[in-house]
Amino acid sequence: MYILSCWIEHPVRSLDRTFTYLSETEVPRGCRVQVVFGMKTLVGFVDSCVYTDEGKEAIEARMNMKLRFIDKAVDPEPLISDELYELAMNMREATLSTAISCFSAMLPAKVKPGSSNHKIVMERWVSVSENEVSLSPKQLEAYLYVRERGSVLYSELRKQYPNQARSLISLHALNVFEKEKKGSLIINAASAPRPKLSPLQEKVIDEILQSDDTVYLLRGVTGSGKTEIYLRLAEKALEEGRQVLILVPEIALTPQMIERVSSRFGASLAIYHSGLNAQEKYEQYRMVMNQEAKVVVGTRSAVFLPFDNLGLIVMDEEHDSSYKQDSQPCYHCRDAALFRAEYHHCRLVLASATPTLESYARGLKKVYHLIVMDERINKAMPSVHIVPMKETIRKGESYIISNLLRDRIRERLDKKEQIILLLNRRGYHARLKCRSCQEPIRCPHCDLAMSWHRDTGLLKCHTCGHEMKVMKVCPSCGSTAGFSAYGFGTEKLEHEIETLFPDARILRMDADTTGRKNSHETILKSFAAHEADILLGTQMIAKGLDFENVTLVGIINGDDGLARTDFRSAETTFDLLMQACGRSGRGAKTGEVVCQVFDPDHYAVKAALNQDYETFFANEMRFRHAGQYPPYTYMIAVTFSDPKEENAMKRAQQFMQCMKGSFKTIGVISLLKIHDLCRCRVILKGKDLDEMRKAVREYMGSGEFSLKGLRIDVNPMYLD
Ligand code: ADP
Ligand code: ZN
Ligand code: ZN
Repeated sequence: MYILSCWIEHPVRSLDRTFTYLSETEVPRGCRVQVVFGMKTLVGFVDSCVYTDEGKEAIEARMNMKLRFIDKAVDPEPLISDELYELAMNMREATLSTAISCFSAMLPAKVKPGSSNHKIVMERWVSVSENEVSLSPKQLEAYLYVRERGSVLYSELRKQYPNQARSLISLHALNVFEKEKKGSLIINAASAPRPKLSPLQEKVIDEILQSDDTVYLLRGVTGSGKTEIYLRLAEKALEEGRQVLILVPEIALTPQMIERVSSRFGASLAIYHSGLNAQEKYEQYRMVMNQEAKVVVGTRSAVFLPFDNLGLIVMDEEHDSSYKQDSQPCYHCRDAALFRAEYHHCRLVLASATPTLESYARGLKKVYHLIVMDERINKAMPSVHIVPMKETIRKGESYIISNLLRDRIRERLDKKEQIILLLNRRGYHARLKCRSCQEPIRCPHCDLAMSWHRDTGLLKCHTCGHEMKVMKVCPSCGSTAGFSAYGFGTEKLEHEIETLFPDARILRMDADTTGRKNSHETILKSFAAHEADILLGTQMIAKGLDFENVTLVGIINGDDGLARTDFRSAETTFDLLMQACGRSGRGAKTGEVVCQVFDPDHYAVKAALNQDYETFFANEMRFRHAGQYPPYTYMIAVTFSDPKEENAMKRAQQFMQCMKGSFKTIGVISLLKIHDLCRCRVILKGKDLDEMRKAVREYMGSGEFSLKGLRIDVNPMYLD
């Protein structure tokens, strides 16, 4: 008999521990089991399995408790290797989440602990049988077709021999069996030539290969040739027979990265991202497990794929906030990547033109091996013009497109060159305000102003997606004076450009035009093929795109982000502007950037326009030091939510009273309501992260502390 200890999902935090069950057969660690827990049948996750020759009574007597047998083992073999098991335990500690939530985050939906009901898709296959049967000539042909290949998908046989397939089965000439459906790898026939490395690229690669450090921080301006460096390092790892993981923030926005990787490693490349459906994800997962996929390009969750021989991990755009998971467990992909790199004794390359301050500070302190590439491959930086909007509007120019930007667009259109326009807000009007009381129309489920969209003629909440018609009566004061519009988004910008340049072909890319699968790719392909002159959109278009013919980038309301109250707002504004400037003049033609801002003297704006990371870093570190923000301190944000404000407030206050230590507690702060939930937050801030974690963990471990409506974010990216 075997004694199993299993993790079981339970909403009471103090029950985040293993429970003991019995099993007649061995069920290794990392398999799921179906068990009865209390009155319910649940899926558990095996932590350990120990053989004993005692009987049930003897074990119960020894342990002094009643034990149950498991109902059944769900998986024939472990879903999670020892390495990933250890990573899950590590994540549980670091993010203060439950073990089960960590396993869930790591596994594709098909095999998540709680989801034994997801069906694995099976396919019917046929192979020849031993039976002797007499066949017609055509049947014999079909029979030989199968024999030659060993086994064939039944659907394929039906296609080849529509009239014989079924009869061969009823004659028992063929055996039918089921196999799990398998994914296919992308084969890209058009392999691109490897460019000759620039001297700087050569130097960087040598430096990395000659060092035995684990973590490298590669700060390189956009267009400095970082991607080629990843590809060369990947080649090296493959030569050694090892696997490669390239992490990217968002697949749909980095089609050119996929193209370049697949043209180099097409035959053994898997792609893993949130746009895949559950079956597709599972198929890619199996391919990594079987070692069929040697190179994976993937988003955040790809860091948990079952590699067993990693030779290199690259994290492109390491500063991107999509590497952090929003929901429990709020893990950061970088931490998981670091764990795996150490486990596999392989290199982790973090790369960005604008590393997070945390990473860059580590680079300067030599915790990470810092490498800087300040020169573009084509040696040309775009020339940048700043338009101070307060002045130009005072002079009577348009508040959307200044005269300078208008003239530059005209010039580029006449030269048949392409233009990118960035405005980081979607919709038509940003908000509608009551003419009588000046209150904006807010979402009934969130405390946020709603935007008006022209395509639907409706108000839309960008947080919860709620849509509604504009009302006749002001919900705040009851006046019927009507509403006036404030602020503008990409829809209005598009309208304005159409009016100013009726001859221009325009593409718009934002969350409203990219709802359907592959719509990003369609828009980007079309722009790359010069089927449009102007691509306009939100920050989506500022990421990782490389278009040769783009010679003008216009940034509208470039410093909008500074109005946010978050401690990272200068950093995100800087990142966005740097990225956007990097989009211009990537090919042979020199590029130009026109940036419209309200505060041209802000250090984030100035540094971005000079493409000067160091100066930004120095200024921003001063600000972080003054406010005691990361990287000078660590933070843990604990948010309680409830439909009733007083319930959330009570829980937050109780929590806050129990937090004692060398750290500060800030709060309780009432946050804006979203999705009909009132939220109250407490922030712990201090130099000793382990001490803060311990305080929170101890509080949660006491009594019947419920995890419902609780969000714990260790090292939060944003606070607003
Ligand atoms: P980054 O990833 O740093 O933004 P890329 O790797 O995309 O930079 O390189 C910028 C451009 O330069 C790309 O169009 C790329 O094809 C080209 N490139 C990169 N390395 C070389 C090289 N050694 N020789 C010629 N062109 C190169
Ligand atoms: Zn009103
Ligand atoms: Zn809403």
